[in-house]
Amino acid sequence: MLDIRWKAAVFICALIIISLFSWLISDATTALLIFSASLLVYIFNHIFWLHKLQTWFKKPSLKEIPEGLGLWEDVFTLLLKYERNNTFNQTQLNSALERFNLATSAMPDGLVILSSSNEIEWCTPNAENQLGLDLTTDKNLPIVNLIRNSSFISYLYNEQYHEPFKLKSWRNPDLVLEIQLIPFANNQKLLISHDMTQLEKVDIMRRDFIANVSHELRTPLTVVGGFLETLIDMEGAVPEKLKPYFTMMDEQTIRMRRIIEDLLTLSTIESNSEDPDNSEINMSSLLKSVQNDAIGLSQSLTKKEHNIRLQVDSNLNLRGSIDELRSVFSNLVSNAIRYTPTNDASKSGEILISWGLQDGEPVFSVQDSGIGIEQRHIDRLTERFYRVDRSRSRETGGTGLGLSIVKHILIRHQAKLEIRSELGVGSTFSAIFPKARILQLK
Ligand code: ADP
Repeated sequence: MLDIRWKAAVFICALIIISLFSWLISDATTALLIFSASLLVYIFNHIFWLHKLQTWFKKPSLKEIPEGLGLWEDVFTLLLKYERNNTFNQTQLNSALERFNLATSAMPDGLVILSSSNEIEWCTPNAENQLGLDLTTDKNLPIVNLIRNSSFISYLYNEQYHEPFKLKSWRNPDLVLEIQLIPFANNQKLLISHDMTQLEKVDIMRRDFIANVSHELRTPLTVVGGFLETLIDMEGAVPEKLKPYFTMMDEQTIRMRRIIEDLLTLSTIESNSEDPDNSEINMSSLLKSVQNDAIGLSQSLTKKEHNIRLQVDSNLNLRGSIDELRSVFSNLVSNAIRYTPTNDASKSGEILISWGLQDGEPVFSVQDSGIGIEQRHIDRLTERFYRVDRSRSRETGGTGLGLSIVKHILIRHQAKLEIRSELGVGSTFSAIFPKARILQLK
């Protein structure tokens, strides 16, 4: 196809040649008349096709593209080609979008795209069902206006999205959702909702089973333990030769009772979906009493006592459930005592209990100079019945459930447990609380 500029140049040259020729065979006026009349026709022709093009642009359609004449035939052919490509790309894009929509609709999870200001931009039908949304009416509305759950709102604004969030549906109490937020692009977020109602049911069954078994075992064990104690104490009731066996039976019953108590505590904490108490805790006096209990435990376990020190920022109080947090602090301190020998010649059994701000964060920590833990065990310590040193745990009255209880209580208080340890050197267990839970007194 000849370039449009060449075609126009050829036409004008031909017109000039014709005009010059007519000048030769006739006169200058006739030549000028022929030249200007042809030029006028040329301009009107362009205006006509420009108008056609303008009319087409107002209502563009592939079928309606004019055929054109001369230069304009080339222009309209190119336009037709461009439009065909465009229509083809559009069809491709539409079918890709349709496939994407079908795929996301088939997903069991719900997807919602949130804008940088947390407004709903798009969501799948499953998200509409699970979260009670309606894209036609809720598009561009803030998600917090539609999911009115205070814990969800703080999860959204806290921007700590590494852990998913469990949401009990307010519209349907039987529905339990796991919500995960994933930031992407320019501060936008992808919200994934996963229906975990069945899993939750199984978990409730498991918790109920453990709680029921523990309850059922508690009474018979108390009776057995009571009789054993009576028999041991009763003069002449047990032959001297059998006394050590009876004492062993008594010790094992006490151990079983302790395990049952811990199992009951754990299942009570796990099944408690209500927020913990939010009362102000005087950390100085609470930790002083934890220290006193620790001194008592140290005296009962070892001949040579531990050196238990306390470092408390008395201007810093904590908000939470005092009973639950006392259990956390006592568990960590009692572990430090139980896993720190005092008969070691090189070390004297140092334990430091501290509470205060560390890098701006409120931290309770217990540092010991005990046996330490190998790195490979650290991630598993909060699992139920996970023990590194079984015999030491048993000898010192451990149940293997202490750190599980600690972990669950801390989760309820939005706090996290950090464990640093070196084998043979000692360990530091730290509970890091959110700043929202502290009260600065000065
Ligand atoms: P246990 O009743 O057996 O102490 P826990 O759940 O409290 O159960 O602790 C789990 C395991 O973690 C313990 O058995 C022990 O091996 C290890 N552990 C906990 N605290 C310490 C510590 N301060 N020093 C060394 N090991 C520890």
